[in-house]
Amino acid sequence: MLNKSWRLQTWSDLDQPWDIIVIGGGITGAGIFNMAAQKGLKVLLVEAHDFAFGTSSRSSKLVHGGIRYLRNRQYDVVRESIRERERMIKESDGLVEPLPFIFPSFENNLRETRMMKMGVIFYDLMAFKWQHQSLGKKKTTAILPALKSKGLVGGVQYMDSRVDDSQLVLRVIMDGIRFGGSAINYARVIKLLKTQQGKVIGVVVKDKSGELNPSEKDIRGKVVINATGPWSDQVRADLDVQPKLRPLRGSHLIFSQEKIPLKAAVTMLHPRDNRALFAIPWENRTMIGTTDLDHNHVGDETRISQEETAYLLEAAQHAFPNYPVTESDIISTFAGLRPVINTNAPTPSKESRAHAYWDENGLVTIAGGKLTIFRIMAADVLNFCRSRLPHTPQFHHWSPCFIHPQAQKAEQRSDPDWIMMAGRLGLDVHTFFENANSEDMHPIETIPELWAELTWAAQNEAVVHLDDLLLRRVRLGLLFPNGGLAHMPRVRSLVQQPLGWSDEDWEEELTRYQHIWQNNYYLPQ
Ligand code: FAD
Repeated sequence: MLNKSWRLQTWSDLDQPWDIIVIGGGITGAGIFNMAAQKGLKVLLVEAHDFAFGTSSRSSKLVHGGIRYLRNRQYDVVRESIRERERMIKESDGLVEPLPFIFPSFENNLRETRMMKMGVIFYDLMAFKWQHQSLGKKKTTAILPALKSKGLVGGVQYMDSRVDDSQLVLRVIMDGIRFGGSAINYARVIKLLKTQQGKVIGVVVKDKSGELNPSEKDIRGKVVINATGPWSDQVRADLDVQPKLRPLRGSHLIFSQEKIPLKAAVTMLHPRDNRALFAIPWENRTMIGTTDLDHNHVGDETRISQEETAYLLEAAQHAFPNYPVTESDIISTFAGLRPVINTNAPTPSKESRAHAYWDENGLVTIAGGKLTIFRIMAADVLNFCRSRLPHTPQFHHWSPCFIHPQAQKAEQRSDPDWIMMAGRLGLDVHTFFENANSEDMHPIETIPELWAELTWAAQNEAVVHLDDLLLRRVRLGLLFPNGGLAHMPRVRSLVQQPLGWSDEDWEEELTRYQHIWQNNYYLPQ
């Protein structure tokens, strides 16, 4: 139960010596935290904003091999990603679900179609599964009625999988806490603690929730791991070292399913530069992305640019001319930064997505990689740190990181709500079903999430601000027009009391949320 008393307790317990301090509560930090806690290490994770605030809530939401990377011959990245995808589908209790993709084949892209066919064979060989198929024109249009029919020859279908990225991060962190780790959000590392010789021995953390006293603490650990994704160079700057990252911005547009109806995801080529993009059915909406652009100034927030909006709209209009969309059809947008290691490749898309880790005066940094391979990244960096953690056995990326809930009634095993909630909440699914108000056990209008999730998250999931709740726990803000403003009266009735907010607090939070949504999750002004 991550509520206010949990926050006070966790903060007061920080002054103990830790084996590992993990900076950053995105998927990279979450994976390291979970795996270290499993081995009984004393591990603390500190996150400056909300859990999954950074790139890990702004991805394309795929646990995938990365068909695009085959074009750049990044075979190792694809191979390990496919293996991880298969394990995640098996092990995540319904959080990660298989998703068919179709690459439409046109008279003018037969060469690309041939390459795609070769790619999906490679894909299936890696997964030890034969699940791709060639579709004729009739079948392709039956699955994807929105698709351009002029020149359409058929399609290449292959399988990948989809996840709610911020829910994945939260589940990995929650299971890490169940394994015995400590994690706290709204706790920013503002400085590294060093010996006189400059060796890193801990961090100075500042409370950003505004609820804690004293608001700053010195924390010491045998190992300090910098898992701050695109912010890694900012944490490293305390060591006077050269930047290593090339942050690359990727943005998405979200439309309703009425505007772009999809029963499968579409892998499409942009008419301007032939780059591969995706149209993905997600939470009963259609998501189009992504871009891949240099992003020079890494601030707190990232947003889509006017040029990216136009570029993605052009792709949507070109692929789905029978369902022409315009700017006014966009429900929301979001943008994230890939924490890619800079190798000075000629274009952003040519930069490798492989991960790397290194030690600088005791500060271990890990960057690059993907959401899909978070366990490989975690095991790699923890093994790298083992020499500083006496008697710690080898870490393996295949050791399970989820604690599985068992269905108590036979009918639960086929109940879609139970399966969805078991994926999100793990062991807490039982308490959720026991305590939820039956009136709130219904989907929020057109999305699968339940109203009761809002109350649950407000009570149990370390929510500090309304944007935590509406952008990362239950993703109303991305899925309804105006950030879900029309639903605020009911949201308020469900969360104000569990969050302990006065009427004034609610108004302040609503204003803050609208400001964040308008500036970072909608069209550029
Ligand atoms: P982040 O998620 O950014 O986490 C870093 C965290 O550190 C942040 O929460 C931040 O607040 C915190 N932090 C920063 N400074 C401090 C500090 N001083 N103190 C404490 N905390 C701090 N991968 C896939 O596998 N599948 C996909 O579909 C996919 N799609 C993508 C689409 C886009 C547009 C992008 C940009 C990336 C995509 N990726 C995908 C890659 C994947 O999302 C990232 O590799 C991954 O999310 C990075 O996670 P991270 O934890 O390293 O960084």
